[in-house]
Amino acid sequence: MSTTLSVDVLIIGGGATGAGLVRDLARRGLRCLLVDKGDLGSGTSGRHHGLLHSGGRYVVKDALAARECIDENRILRRIAPASIEDTGGYFVATPDDPEEYVETFAAACLASGVPCEEVPVADLLRREPALHPSIRRAFRVPDGALEPWQLIQATVADARSRGAEIWPYQRAVAMELTAGQRIVSVDIADERSGSITRVAPRFVVSASGAWAGAVAGLARIKLSMAPGKGTMLIFNQRMTDAVINRCHRPADGDIMVPVHEVAILGTTEITVEDPDRYGIGREEVAQLMVEGRKLFPDLDRMRLLRAYAGVRPLYKDDQPAAKVEDGREISRAHLIIDHESRDGVGNFVSIVGGKITTHRLMAEQTADAVCAKLGVTQPCTTAEEVLPGQGDARSYWLGHRLAEHEEDGGGDADLICECEMLTRAGLDSFLDARWPCSLDDVRRGTRLGMGPCQGGFCTFRAAGVIAERSATGALPAAPTDLSPDAVDRMRLDFLAERFRGTRPIAWGRQLQELWIMSGLYTGVLGVESLDHGSPSPGPGSTPGSADRPAVAAERELTHAQR
Ligand SMILES: Cc1cc2nc3c(=O)[nH]c(=O)nc-3n(C[C@H](O)[C@H](O)[C@H](O)COP(=O)(O)OP(=O)(O)OC[C@H]3O[C@@H](n4cnc5c(N)ncnc54)[C@H](O)[C@@H]3O)c2cc1C
Repeated sequence: MSTTLSVDVLIIGGGATGAGLVRDLARRGLRCLLVDKGDLGSGTSGRHHGLLHSGGRYVVKDALAARECIDENRILRRIAPASIEDTGGYFVATPDDPEEYVETFAAACLASGVPCEEVPVADLLRREPALHPSIRRAFRVPDGALEPWQLIQATVADARSRGAEIWPYQRAVAMELTAGQRIVSVDIADERSGSITRVAPRFVVSASGAWAGAVAGLARIKLSMAPGKGTMLIFNQRMTDAVINRCHRPADGDIMVPVHEVAILGTTEITVEDPDRYGIGREEVAQLMVEGRKLFPDLDRMRLLRAYAGVRPLYKDDQPAAKVEDGREISRAHLIIDHESRDGVGNFVSIVGGKITTHRLMAEQTADAVCAKLGVTQPCTTAEEVLPGQGDARSYWLGHRLAEHEEDGGGDADLICECEMLTRAGLDSFLDARWPCSLDDVRRGTRLGMGPCQGGFCTFRAAGVIAERSATGALPAAPTDLSPDAVDRMRLDFLAERFRGTRPIAWGRQLQELWIMSGLYTGVLGVESLDHGSPSPGPGSTPGSADRPAVAAERELTHAQR
């Protein structure tokens, strides 16, 4: 064990909420350490739908949530424009959507302060011709698309510039409490080397999302979560340039979000026992397709790239049992749990629930609670100060990377990933800043492999660049094994992860494509098997019992269809 590190506040969890919190507290002058058991944004914040909510989804049922969304929507557009595409959004009424809901929608928007304008359906259909011609009414709202990893990195960069320390791949594994019920130390295990650092914090915040129950358990506190799994489908084209929502009570498969060059349909809602153990069922995919066709009748002619899922950090302790049964009924509102008044542990709070759209507000309210306990009076400044790296302060647009590439001379010689326009220089600067890292970390940081080819070509190029730089000593020094086998393993992990998401959607033409792809990998490239399913402990890989049950479920599904 290394020596003890003293900090004012230890934040456990590096999703959007933890990132927002470390920024806020560091700006108020506190010495902070943020730890995450994986890469930043590798939990739910990297597995959501990508919607910057206008609040429209909540106006009828939860006016407070709607107001929080529109307020934070405006703030994020101002402080984090580089992470937002200003797509705009529409709530559309299909013949299946109840008239009473549609009738109340515009008035409910007005009451919650969500800008809403009814537009002629013919105009919308001219703008979005793939939409269903039977749509009856349409309302425009200021939805957008939100890029989580860039947002999180910019947020922690601001915290770092104020002296905060950010430690990815470091898991909180144990807490020591005094007899008077204060946390005196937290042991943090390095997921790569296994070494333990003991941290002595004045205060501890758990921003560990769906894992909040397990983290509270380290302080011998019982906190029950009801992780709500949501599945989403990625299509290989933007069949819409604006976010499209069904104008009805929130349900499955009723939102399509254009995200960079793909579009994402979601979501489902199924309560799971364990946020690390879930699969994606064939019926979920079928249900999403049924609902999706009501918005886009030609959905079956578009190519499905993959399915993925995330788990909502829903809290169930004070929810009636009936609500817990039906995950959609559990409140999405965020909640700050003071473990002093609830459990008698003096210097510990958990923040649960919420949305990525409202992460800054959640962080502000949590920081207020922490500061009150520590006697700090500095006010919150996160809503006013623009995050670092926001470029020309305009939101991004679909062609921005192409435009940047062309400004730099264009051509394809230097491209590592054609879908996402990632150049060799872009990859090199990521590796310089973030090494040691896995290809999956590269994906989050650069979007490598997230476009229509799903890593089919760029993975090999990126692995080649890493192997070449490793062989020539051109990577920053790191205590990491980089034998050719390790690079190969890293490439396999990445491909297996990309391939895994294709299993639940394997039918018809898509199944034929998968067979071709697996033939290419195994027959031509000599990849032993994409079924190995267990991310290796190679450079920066996430230790992953997490995905194995999903692999099993998906494997079963694929076999059933062969
Ligand atoms: C299917 C789905 C779709 C969604 N769509 C949207 C949307 O379109 N728009 C929107 O605004 N919101 C959306 N949300 C909600 C939003 O994604 C989440 O509320 C938000 O990302 C939660 O962020 P978080 O930081 O609280 O949790 P997380 O991002 O899960 O972060 C928690 C972190 O804690 C870490 N951790 C856990 N245990 C430990 C430990 N022992 N030690 C160290 N670290 C630990 C984890 O690795 C994880 O990174 C969606 C959610 C789901 C599930």
